[in-house]
Amino acid sequence: MSFPFQANLRPDTFNRLVEYLRSVVERFPDERTGETTYSMADAALGAFSVFFTQSPSFLDFQRNLQLTKGCNNALTLFGIQRIPTDNQTRNLLDPVPPSAVLPVFAAVVETLHAGGQLEAYRSINDDLLVAIDGTRYFSSDKIHCDQCSVTQHKNGSITYSHSVVTPVIVAPGSTRVIPLEPEFITPQDGHKKQDCENAAAKRWLVQFGSHYRPLGITVLGDDLYCKQPLCEAIRREGMNFILVCKPDSHKTLYEWVAGLAATNEVQTTKGILWGAPRPCLPPWRSPPQYASSIWMIPSNGC
Ligand SMILES: [Zn+2]
Repeated sequence: MSFPFQANLRPDTFNRLVEYLRSVVERFPDERTGETTYSMADAALGAFSVFFTQSPSFLDFQRNLQLTKGCNNALTLFGIQRIPTDNQTRNLLDPVPPSAVLPVFAAVVETLHAGGQLEAYRSINDDLLVAIDGTRYFSSDKIHCDQCSVTQHKNGSITYSHSVVTPVIVAPGSTRVIPLEPEFITPQDGHKKQDCENAAAKRWLVQFGSHYRPLGITVLGDDLYCKQPLCEAIRREGMNFILVCKPDSHKTLYEWVAGLAATNEVQTTKGILWGAPRPCLPPWRSPPQYASSIWMIPSNGC
């Protein structure tokens, strides 16, 4: 297997990760001119530290620590020289496109691959499982921008929102996931239709499929993704897929399966429970069944 390494960049310890992150955020575009108090790196690492510590008050606490004790963990842990306020952080980072930070995702995966840690994530067919799902991170009926998704409700009201598709490497029985590059759900140039999860997933495949394909990937997704065009897009990128397929949204497919069951062409798995201390039968009422060579019905979905 070959996987494109950036051999000079291996953020394989926390300090090296922060150092590498600093090297990326130092190159963030800076719209300011003249004298500045805070660097772009301090703003970006400050924001990162809040997410890393999962404490919304982390930077406030560090500022007080600096005032009272003359030192702070923000400097020793994250190398933040001066801690900007929340508003200053927003003003500095808002104009920065998310694409500016994307190289960090690939660097982390490459580092884990080089160190052999990805092997623990291998599962079905020795593939890595990449779960794709969307999440909404902003919603308002008043505040909006040009990049908002717009939902018109039957009662006439409008919801503005921002969502993102977040692919992550997962493994059965593991609570740790490895995030890959996100793809934002936002109006696309030249497209009149609203953007959607499915279209964002296809863009992700086109942009990153060839990069991750050499690792051996099986894409996981819910019923929303179980559409013929997306399945074809996954296969074009040389990946496999396991997608949830609900009876009410895939009526014809289930009729097909029922027909196969009538002729005893539906197989039963051994049903090993992954992640158990020892391989054992799962606590399902009946073992999972599967059928091969089923055609998916072409979908008009996006
Ligand atoms: Zn918006």
